[in-house]
Amino acid sequence: MKEIVAATNNPDKLREIREILGTKFSILSLKDEGVSVEIVENGLSFYDNALIKAKTVTELTGKPSLADDSGLIVPALGGAPGIYSARYGGEDCDSLLNRAKLLKEMKDIENRDASFYSSIVLFFPDSTVVSAEGEAKGMILKEEQGTKGFGYDSLFFSFALKKSFAEATPEEKNSVSHRGVALKNLLKKLSE
Ligand code: IMP
Repeated sequence: MKEIVAATNNPDKLREIREILGTKFSILSLKDEGVSVEIVENGLSFYDNALIKAKTVTELTGKPSLADDSGLIVPALGGAPGIYSARYGGEDCDSLLNRAKLLKEMKDIENRDASFYSSIVLFFPDSTVVSAEGEAKGMILKEEQGTKGFGYDSLFFSFALKKSFAEATPEEKNSVSHRGVALKNLLKKLSE
């Protein structure tokens, strides 16, 4: 099976990438490759950041690398947290603080529409790039629902699943999530 290194330090992203692509590729982690790196994500778009991550990891490992840059977009907050989703609550924050800040910012807001977005970049050692994107639509809940998943999952009510991402099984989430859609679009492109 062809090897791809997942350019992420996020164990939940790694798990989901493996769940979705694991039968087609051997998905290696940075740890598997003995790579310890904190990549500075200073791009101005999801695509830029995914490209920075995948390119860096290919340069370090000499192997094809796949990066996901993703986040939550809330139109009523001007698109925030957007590309800053991982550090919305502050530089050294965690998911709990991110969700607390989101609930606070949304307190008096009626339009709770939101979407998750994922940009996937697969970077090859010859510098070829194959990219794809995916989106999932929903709304921000007034309180957390469900305990599965990660990040903002317990605050995101999926219109497709009619429940929060944190109430969904991994199969259900992957079938409609931004990351699931983006990775399926990537597979389509690779088979063309
Ligand atoms: P980055 O792509 O490493 O910049 O981080 C993306 C951030 O967006 C994560 O740390 C989460 O806070 C959030 N996020 C991305 N995808 C998901 C998801 O599937 N569920 C919940 N939160 C997500």
